[in-house]
Amino acid sequence: MNQPQIFPLIPLRDTVPFPNVEFSFTFGRPKTTKAINLATQGQKKIVLVAQKDPRIQDPNWEDIYHTGVLGEIEQVFQTEGGLHAIVRGIKRVGLVELVSTNPFYQIKVVEIPDIVDEPEEMKVRTTHLVRELKRAFSLGKTVDPFLMIRLNSGVPLPELIDQVGSVLELPIPEKQEILETASVKKRLDLIINGLLSEIKVLELEKRIDRKTQTKFEKGMKKAVLEEKKRTIEKELRKLGVVEAEEGEIREFKERIKKAGMPPEVRKKAEYELNRLASMPSIAPEASYIKTYLDVLLDLPWKTEKQKEISIKEASKILDQDHYGLKNIKERVLEYLAVMKLRRKAKVSKSRNGTPNILCFIGPPGVGKTSIGKSIAKALGRKFIRISLGGIRDEAEIRGHRRTYVGALPGRIIQGIRNVGAKNPVFMLDEVDKIGIDFRGDPSAALLEALDPEQNSSFSDHYLEVPYDLSEVFFILTGNILDTIPPALRDRLEIIRFPGYTEEEKLHIAKDFLVPKQVRNNGLEGYNVSFDEGAIKELIRSYTREAGVRNLERAIASVCRKLARRIAEEKKISFRVTKQMVGKFLGPREFTHTARERKDEVGVATGLAWTQAGGEILFVEVALMPGSGKIFLTGKLGTVMKESCQAAVSYLRSHWQECGIDKNFAKKTDIHIHVPEGAVPKDGPSAGVAIATALYSALTNKKAHSEVGMTGEITLRGKVLEIGGVKEKVLAAHRAELKTIILPKDNKKDLQDIPPKVKKDLQFVFVDNLKKVFKTAVA
Ligand code: ADP
Repeated sequence: MNQPQIFPLIPLRDTVPFPNVEFSFTFGRPKTTKAINLATQGQKKIVLVAQKDPRIQDPNWEDIYHTGVLGEIEQVFQTEGGLHAIVRGIKRVGLVELVSTNPFYQIKVVEIPDIVDEPEEMKVRTTHLVRELKRAFSLGKTVDPFLMIRLNSGVPLPELIDQVGSVLELPIPEKQEILETASVKKRLDLIINGLLSEIKVLELEKRIDRKTQTKFEKGMKKAVLEEKKRTIEKELRKLGVVEAEEGEIREFKERIKKAGMPPEVRKKAEYELNRLASMPSIAPEASYIKTYLDVLLDLPWKTEKQKEISIKEASKILDQDHYGLKNIKERVLEYLAVMKLRRKAKVSKSRNGTPNILCFIGPPGVGKTSIGKSIAKALGRKFIRISLGGIRDEAEIRGHRRTYVGALPGRIIQGIRNVGAKNPVFMLDEVDKIGIDFRGDPSAALLEALDPEQNSSFSDHYLEVPYDLSEVFFILTGNILDTIPPALRDRLEIIRFPGYTEEEKLHIAKDFLVPKQVRNNGLEGYNVSFDEGAIKELIRSYTREAGVRNLERAIASVCRKLARRIAEEKKISFRVTKQMVGKFLGPREFTHTARERKDEVGVATGLAWTQAGGEILFVEVALMPGSGKIFLTGKLGTVMKESCQAAVSYLRSHWQECGIDKNFAKKTDIHIHVPEGAVPKDGPSAGVAIATALYSALTNKKAHSEVGMTGEITLRGKVLEIGGVKEKVLAAHRAELKTIILPKDNKKDLQDIPPKVKKDLQFVFVDNLKKVFKTAVA
């Protein structure tokens, strides 16, 4: 069609026609129906063109675009809705002139041929178009499915472009621009761009769709599951299972009501119960929640009635249960008195006003626990005791979070749960054995629990709700003070239990331990008694300790033997004598009292202070030909090793006044040994004994075994003050030493020593080694 030709014109209100595409139209305007009817009778060709403004009923030359499509009418049918026609676009045409407008439009057109560019570039672009088209299709774009099927077998390019162009969702002017573009390459670009922006919109829609879809699905799912649950429950009820579960829930509800919890705790309990009620009983979490609720509900929440503290009564109880311990009882009564007054005056727990936490320090078996129990008795409160020994993990105090399998509350909350009272006397043993490592600092958590300032809302990780520990009467105990973390030590009111003299032990045994063990071993109905000699034998030869724990065990042992005798021999009266003790318990366990030792060259009697109280130890020195080497054995700590070096240096530098061979160090090796090698020993206070043993060895003079000594030394031979005097003196007394050498500055410590002990021992106070040697070495 090289020459212009005339065809009927159909203006389209809202469609841009394309060649190679089939359109179905419904026509209503009289001019167009006439044109269609005429055309169907003739060569069936018409020209389709888009109107610039769809609202115009009778468009003019200016109201239509000037590029259109020549089409062929394939089918026509009339319905009530109007005239329908299927028209197939054939080619692009340019409108030349509007030939007539009545009774229908006639137009003169010329063909606009495609301008085809480089085939390579076209190929790349086509592949791109196909890919994007597939993507758009998968995102839900409506494209002729036949086209999609044919894509793989290869659709001729112009057809593909026109088809895609026709389905792009673009405004009329933009679509018209595509139609008007004669260059195939440019047209392709326009189409790809259009397609891409459409894909963007489609993706966005899809995302929004998905969201609303999931929301909808969730709702549906929930409804379906709830319905299922109702049915299952109905069935279970028939079997009687649900009744049991409901009973459990009801019981929890009842307990929550009665527990007297603070509102926030109650809320938490109810929340957990609701969770429990809404899950099947076989869910693993259900059992965790039940355990949790059990813990929460077992804990006492209501404030306990405080018994009025009577100091008189407390004093009576302490005396009834304990022999001696005068100072300690006094300190405890003072503490209780302050507590009473504070309560009366309703002193708030402000920073300055917080009372310190009671802490009993002393060797095992000296009555720390027992005093704690008496305090509980005097206050009318329950007593509980837990050990903190070896705790390294903060979680032991503060509990594990519930997310852990097998999580538990911390020991304090467990303790409170076990006693079931909000205000027990709570004894925490072995605070001196708490460790610190990567799992946190238990002492910090402990302080939080103990500090009256903070403990009204103690937070245990397991509980997740604060618990008020302010009514609890905490007492800490430990063997030594040094290892208690300083932050904690700061807040403690320390009461020291130094240990007992033999005299005191005898009284305790007679008045308390024997009757107790007689009772415990079922001997009450029989006439059983212990001779004083028997008890002394037990104290001296079967135990060596600051407290009375082993003594109590030894008495218990004897009582068991007696029980057997009584059962076998049917005797009803027994008097335990010294000889019988030997028979019952076998050979003596401790015979090495100092009294039984002879004076020797190179052995000095030292006084030490260990976790088990005071001890005596023997420092041995052996000299042998050699070259000045020093050997140290007996598991000595660094400080003690340094004391050995200091003693050697002192003697070397004072050879003259000490009367020692000037060159001894050149030809002699020195071996210093402290026996009982399995027990680690450390501390500076053995310095004096080491120097004495060394002096005795080097001068070849005997050291008195009955002279015990303690004190730190300097290189100049000064003797410095040391700690633990009372414990050491008691140990010396137990070991039946005669004389004790103490640093001069420790004179003040003698006031704590029981008069009987003071009377039995001779004290020599020194400030330099010379005096020590004079007293201790013959
Ligand atoms: P700790 O707690 O210091 O290790 P305990 O309190 O357990 O020691 O005492 C050990 C035993 O000795 C207990 O049976 C206790 O009753 C008894 N006991 C200790 N000191 C005395 C004392 N002064 N009077 C009476 N009994 C005592």
